[in-house]
Amino acid sequence: MIETRGDAATLDAADPLAGFRDAFELPAGVIYLDGNSLGALPKVTAGRVAETVRDQWGRDLIRSWNTHDWIGAPLRVGGKIAALIGADAHEVIVADSTSVNLFKLAAGAVALRPGRTTILSEPGNFPTDLYVLQGLGRFLDGRARLKIVAADDLADEIDEDTAVVVLTHVHYKSGRRWDLEALTARAHERGALILWDLSHSVGCLDVRLNAAGADLAVGCGYKYLNGGPGAPAFAFVAERHQAGLASPLSGWMGHAEPFAFDDAFRPAGDIRAQLCGTPSVLGLAALEPGVDLHLEADRALVEAKGLALGDAFIELVERRCEGLTLASPREGRRRGHHVSFTHPDAYAIVQALIARGVIGDFRAPDIARFGFSALYTSFAEVWDAVEILREVLATRAYDHQDFRRRAAVT
Ligand SMILES: *Cc1c(COP(=O)(O)O)cnc(C)c1O
Repeated sequence: MIETRGDAATLDAADPLAGFRDAFELPAGVIYLDGNSLGALPKVTAGRVAETVRDQWGRDLIRSWNTHDWIGAPLRVGGKIAALIGADAHEVIVADSTSVNLFKLAAGAVALRPGRTTILSEPGNFPTDLYVLQGLGRFLDGRARLKIVAADDLADEIDEDTAVVVLTHVHYKSGRRWDLEALTARAHERGALILWDLSHSVGCLDVRLNAAGADLAVGCGYKYLNGGPGAPAFAFVAERHQAGLASPLSGWMGHAEPFAFDDAFRPAGDIRAQLCGTPSVLGLAALEPGVDLHLEADRALVEAKGLALGDAFIELVERRCEGLTLASPREGRRRGHHVSFTHPDAYAIVQALIARGVIGDFRAPDIARFGFSALYTSFAEVWDAVEILREVLATRAYDHQDFRRRAAVT
C-alpha cells in the first residue's frame, strides 16, 4: 500500500520497466494519463518519419516501394503486432482504420456463417463499433443485423442464429475486461465466430489470441501502441479462416497479384486479402517505432505494472478524494489499464486537472477517465496526480466557467 510519496518513489526505483520512460518525449510539467487515447511520442519517431519523407520519398521517389520495402510494410508491422497479441506473424496486417477493419471482418464473418442472421454486441460498446455494425446490417439488407444484449446476458444469448459476436475486450469507458478465453469458447460451442476489438488491450494486456482460439480481431495503432494521431489500425485473421474470409472491400492490394492488373478480382489467399488500397506509408513509418518499443518489453511485466498503477490510483483516490465514484472493476484481473470515476462535474474536473498539467479525459455523460501506460507512467506520478485531484475537489477549483466550455474533442 502507498502511504506516502516516498512509498511511490520506492516502487519506481524497483520497477524493471522504468528505463522505457526515457524512450518517450514527455513535456516537463505534464502528468500524462491519456496514453489510452493518444499514446505518447517515442523519441525516435520524428527522425524516422523525417527520413521516410526526405530520403525515401524525396530522394528515392517511387523506387522506395521496392528499395525501402514500402509495399511490405503492412505485413512487416502486422507481424510485429502479432507478437504482442499472441498471434502468428502471418495472421496480422496493418491497414485502414479500426472502424474500416471492423466492417471488413464482420462482413466476412457473416458470409462464413450463412443462414445465421444475428451479429451480437453489447450496449455501450464503443460507438464506432455499434455504428459500423448497424451500417453492415443495412448493407446486408436483412440477411443479418445487429442485436444488442446486456453484457450479463451475452454469453447465454449466443445461439444457433448468431453469426458473429463482436466485443471490445476492454471497455473504453469502464475499463471492464471480458474473459476472452471463456467467451471465445462459448461462441464456438454455439457455432458462432467471434471478433475482438483490442483497441484498449494491445500494448497493455498480455493478450493471447491463438491460445484462446480466437477467430478475428482488430485494434488501434494510436493508443497504447504510440503510433501517432490517426495511425493505421490492424486486423487479425486466424490462419484457418484466411482462405475463406472475403473482404467486402476487394481493392487491388487485396488481389493475389496486384501488379498483374487483371480485370477480375482474385483474392490473395492469406492475410493480405484484408488489404484494400495503397498503404499509408507515412502512417506506418510513425507506427513502427512505437511497436518496436513494445516488443522490447516483457508482456507479463507490462500487464502487471499497468494494473498496479491502476490499483494504486483507485486506492489513493478513494482514500484521499471526496465525491468520486469508481466506475471500473476494482479487481485488476477484470480491468485494462485505464480507470474511470463518475462525478456530476466530471467534465469541469478534467478541465481543471488539465490546466494543472494532469491530462486525463472526459467521456459523456459523467466519466473522468485516466489511463496508465506501463512504459512511461510512474507511481510517483500517480501520487502527484491524486494530490492535484484532491486539491481540485477540495477547493472546488473546477467550479469556474472556463472549465465548463465544451471543446469539439473531449
Ligand atoms: C479508439 C477505438 C476505436 C477507434 O476507431 P477509429 O476507426 O480509429 O476511429 C474503435 N473501437 C474502439 C473500441 C476504440 O476504443
